[in-house]
Amino acid sequence: MSLNPTRTIAELKELRALTSDENGAQRVAWTDTWLKAREWFASKSSDLPVEQHYDSAGNNWVTLPGASERALLIGGHLDSVPNGGWLDGALNVLAGLEVLRRFASEFHGRPPVTIRLVDWADEEGARFGRSLLGSSAFAGTHSIATDRGRADRDGVKMEDALRRCGVEMDRFPEAERERKNAGAYLELHIEQGPVLESLGLPLGVVLGTKGVERHNITFHGQEAHSGSTPMNARRDALAAAAKLALEIRAIAGKHADAVCTMGSLKTFPGIVTAVVGRCEATLDQRDLNAGVLAQMYREAQEASRRFAAEEKCTVEWSRLWNIEPVPFHPALLDLCEQAVRETSGSTHRMPSGPLHDAAEVSRAGIPTAMMFVQSLNGISHNKIEDTRQEHLEMSVTALDKLASKTVNWMVK
Ligand SMILES: [Zn+2]
Repeated sequence: MSLNPTRTIAELKELRALTSDENGAQRVAWTDTWLKAREWFASKSSDLPVEQHYDSAGNNWVTLPGASERALLIGGHLDSVPNGGWLDGALNVLAGLEVLRRFASEFHGRPPVTIRLVDWADEEGARFGRSLLGSSAFAGTHSIATDRGRADRDGVKMEDALRRCGVEMDRFPEAERERKNAGAYLELHIEQGPVLESLGLPLGVVLGTKGVERHNITFHGQEAHSGSTPMNARRDALAAAAKLALEIRAIAGKHADAVCTMGSLKTFPGIVTAVVGRCEATLDQRDLNAGVLAQMYREAQEASRRFAAEEKCTVEWSRLWNIEPVPFHPALLDLCEQAVRETSGSTHRMPSGPLHDAAEVSRAGIPTAMMFVQSLNGISHNKIEDTRQEHLEMSVTALDKLASKTVNWMVK
C-alpha cells in the first residue's frame, strides 16, 4: 500500500460532514463535537499495527513501534474554532495518518525508527482563551496555576470541562513523559495567510514562529463637555491613541516580515457628547527576530509617550502576554526545503505569524520543522477556508517525503 493523498482529502470531507454545520466546523476542544471527531479518528487508525493512548493533558498518541525507540513525531490538532474551516489542524492529523500508513506498509509494520502521530488537545484555545494547551503541557511550559481559574462564556470552569473529558489539570506535568525518545517533530499546516498564493507557490518552508509582544495601553486625558470645551483646551485620550494606531504601521514597516496590530480600542465615557477621558487600546507586535521585536516594542512605547504629551495626556502600559520567537531546526529546514522542491518544483522560506504546536515542541528542545500549504485568499478560522485539491495532495506527498528524509537523518 503506497501513499494515497486522495484518501486524505476524502477523510477530511468525511470529518467535515460529521462535525460541521452550515456555519462551518464546530470541533471546539472539550465539547461533544470534538469528542465525536476524536472517536471517528480512532476508528481510522484501529486497523494499523499501532498502540494508542491519551496522555494526561488529553493529547492523543498513535504509535507505530520501530526497530529503534527513537521516535519521529508528526502532529496536528482536530479541534477548531467555532465556525471554523475544514483544514486548519485536521489536514495535519490526517496527512500524518496517511504517512503513518505508508510507513506501516513499506516496512511491514516495523520502520527503522518509531513513528508517533499526535493529535494535540486544544490547540485553538477557543473556549477558554488558552491556546496550545496540550502541546504546552507536553513541553513543560504550561502554568496550571494561571489557567485553573479560567471559565468559558457560560461560566463553566476550565478545570470542570477538562475533567468531563477525563483530564485532570493537576496531572498535566505527566504529559512531559511523552518527550522520551523524541528525535524530531514535523507539522504540516495550511498557511492561513496570502503569501504563498501571491507568489504562485503551493508549498512553503516555515522558518519558525514569530515572537509576540502583547500589551494593554491606556491613555488618560480629561472627560469634558463636547460643546463647551475649546479644541485647544482638550485632553483627548482618543486623539493620542489614534496617532499611535497610525504610527505602528511605520514602526512595523521598517522590517520585512514584522506586523503590529491595534486590535481593540475602548473609549470612556464613550458617549457622543463628551471628549474621551480614557482610552484603552491593545497592541500586538510580532517578528521572527528577537532584536526587531524588542526594537518595535521600544519604539511603540516612545511614540505613545510622545503622542500622550502632544495631547496633554498620560499613558500607561501593561503586558498581556509575550512569547519569544521560535526558530525551527536548521538541518530539518533544509530537508523540508528538499521535500517541497522535489514535490512542487520550487520553494519559499517564510516565518509564521500564527503560533503553532510546533513552537511548543521546539521550545522543549526537540528538532522541529514545519511546512505550509497555500490557503486560498489567505482566509482561515472561517467556513470559507479552502485550499486547491492538487495543493492538498502535494502537501501530503511533501510531508511524506520530509518524514522519510527525517528518518534517514535520525538514523545517521
Ligand atoms: Zn491550526
